[in-house]
Amino acid sequence: MNAFGGGFDVEEIDIDETRGREVLVDIKASGLCHSDLHFAETNFGMEPPMVLGHEIAGVVAVIGPEVTEFSIGDHVVGSLVQFCGAGFAEQALLHENQLIAIDPAVPFAEASVLGCGTITGAGAVINSAGVRPGQTVAVIGLGGVGLNVISGARLAGAARIIGIDLNDEKLELARGFGASDVVNGRNGDAVAAVQQLTDGGVDHAFEVIGRKDTALQAIAMLAVGGTASLIGIHGAGSTIELDPNDFLRWQKKVQGVYMGHANIKRDIPFSTPRSSSRVG
Ligand code: NAD
Ligand code: ZN
Repeated sequence: MNAFGGGFDVEEIDIDETRGREVLVDIKASGLCHSDLHFAETNFGMEPPMVLGHEIAGVVAVIGPEVTEFSIGDHVVGSLVQFCGAGFAEQALLHENQLIAIDPAVPFAEASVLGCGTITGAGAVINSAGVRPGQTVAVIGLGGVGLNVISGARLAGAARIIGIDLNDEKLELARGFGASDVVNGRNGDAVAAVQQLTDGGVDHAFEVIGRKDTALQAIAMLAVGGTASLIGIHGAGSTIELDPNDFLRWQKKVQGVYMGHANIKRDIPFSTPRSSSRVG
């Protein structure tokens, strides 16, 4: 990526030698997370040129002299926790702390999304929001990350999981991932629909798009004492206006989620068997 808004270019670049605990990975699959598109369009403080892409699966090609955890030929998943960029390439050089060995039986394309979409979505539910069995959940935006929020809510034992999107195909996918109810935001007021389905509002709402209107919807659709978790990335400098009484009188809470508060060495292995049977 050479200029904001200029799209992606295919170029030859040199990759440094592996030093210390670095590992060179032959990339076999790389996910396309919407964050890559945000960073290609908007200046969030990272200047071009840069190699984007941060959901990778591949095979260890070379290991640095101090690497202890990996051998050449291991199948691995990489994550940007501790690192950013270099996935939309044939090879990537990463510190071994950013890599997880995976079962070679897991296909690379499915494994790649473990490094961001899965740990962010499922982690938002389990680590960040701490959804408890029996609670009610709404998820606004059912892309790669939102569908993993649905899976995470199912794993956490949520009693009701409501998926909201503008695209009927996404709503169908969400049912496959574990949504008990779906709402198409084009068919009217999504907040009213959720309130009606849950008799007043949900315990947890997740915004997984990065829009002001849907972030406000997430807060509005909460029950008394509910928590809105904001995952979608907003344009640099954007602001949201909040009603303090939502937090005082109705005891609502809002939190931001970065990479699902993940510990990748724990969360990627935990997610692998379940995710590989669902993604794709
Ligand atoms: P995606 O483009 O795959 O999915 C977005 C979904 O939102 C689509 O299904 C789209 O139809 C739906 N949508 C758009 N406008 C809508 C509206 N008004 N109402 C309801 N649905 C609407 O994106 P993704 O890769 O899943 O990423 C989602 C967001 O999460 C992005 O902003 C991305 O940058 C961000 N993200 C954040 C983190 C983090 O750590 N916080 C990590 C990964 C991704
Ligand atoms: Zn991502």
